[in-house]
Amino acid sequence: MKEQTKILHSIPADALTGAISTPIYQTSTYVQEAPGINKGYDYSRTNNPTRAALEQLIAELEGGSNGFAFASGLAAIDAVIKLLSAGDEIVAVNDIYGGAFRLFTHIYRKLGITVHYADTTDATNVAAAITPKTKLIWIETPTNPTLKISDIRAIAKTAKAASCLVCVDNTFASPAAQKPIELGADLVVHSATKYLAGHSDVIAGLVVTRTKELGEKIKFIQNASGAILGPFDSWLTIRGIETLPLRVAQHSRNSQAIADFLTTQGFVNNVYYPGLATHPNHAIARQQQKYFGGVVSFDLRIDETAVATQLVQSTRYFKLAESLGGVKSLLCLPCEMTHKSIPAAIRRQSGVSDSLIRLSVGLEDADDLIEDLSTAIKKTARNFAILV
Ligand SMILES: *Cc1c(COP(=O)(O)O)cnc(C)c1O
Repeated sequence: MKEQTKILHSIPADALTGAISTPIYQTSTYVQEAPGINKGYDYSRTNNPTRAALEQLIAELEGGSNGFAFASGLAAIDAVIKLLSAGDEIVAVNDIYGGAFRLFTHIYRKLGITVHYADTTDATNVAAAITPKTKLIWIETPTNPTLKISDIRAIAKTAKAASCLVCVDNTFASPAAQKPIELGADLVVHSATKYLAGHSDVIAGLVVTRTKELGEKIKFIQNASGAILGPFDSWLTIRGIETLPLRVAQHSRNSQAIADFLTTQGFVNNVYYPGLATHPNHAIARQQQKYFGGVVSFDLRIDETAVATQLVQSTRYFKLAESLGGVKSLLCLPCEMTHKSIPAAIRRQSGVSDSLIRLSVGLEDADDLIEDLSTAIKKTARNFAILV
């Protein structure tokens, strides 16, 4: 069975009514026949049929043994870090999602977990950062917003040799484009808020484990800490996933067209998209991804925030907002928005220049999106009296 068919048919019709859409079991508790005798459900923090359907679906889609749904992507990340104990260390991608950095720095450091950051685009840097205390390697690929790619297979091999777990934040690629467990990862996390749910209408997180043993540990943490996803948001996420491969294919086609267009613009300096042959990690992206994804970043010849600010306010279809992965196109200015809390010198060092703009390319017609960007670029150039 091919993937799109599997997604649509892996959740059976409701046994009770035949409902083809997974029912939303909006209930906290379940009536028991006798103390401890129930139908497999006793309390919705522990288990809920709508959430269970989503958890089964994401486990299948990522090729893992178990899936778990959380109240946000960060709650999912938090559950994975709770596998560790005080004194343990993590080696993490230096270009990490800001919320994960904040969690590691302001919550887990004081609980005795230390994180070492490395440029994971070269697996030998991961090996060099591992100490006898390292228990977990944390990578994101592609990264936000400069779309650096790490070789999951090579890093998993390195981690295995050092008896460390590997967790991949697969938010940017989604399982339609990349399956980290098949490449050797032990755990996958998602901000399902982005491509999986796909419509900018829910905050959700997911964890998938390679093995049943790890699955039991995450299940314990999920129930013990309690940051579960509610039934309605589970239903919305299932509904989003049903069209995931179609959406990711189109997000990627649109993104490639836009990246190609941006490279022709004299006003634009760097274009970051793994699908461009000039991207430094293009070869590995080709190897491990089926699609290059829906995020394109670029910066300007005149590397000034004022110029970029004008540009992001001049588009018609690309709406100025944080987040990504939805059907409607968004754009943001990381230095003033998502990456504002990072000191400017460190931010610039990781490639996020003062004029860097991140596009979340939606499912509008690519011609309209290109025209939108072209008009905004011309208008901004005119206002700043720059020759395009
Ligand atoms: C958005 C995001 C998160 C956090 O997810 P929330 O659902 O916002 O909590 C984690 N990782 C990446 C790569 C993200 O883009």
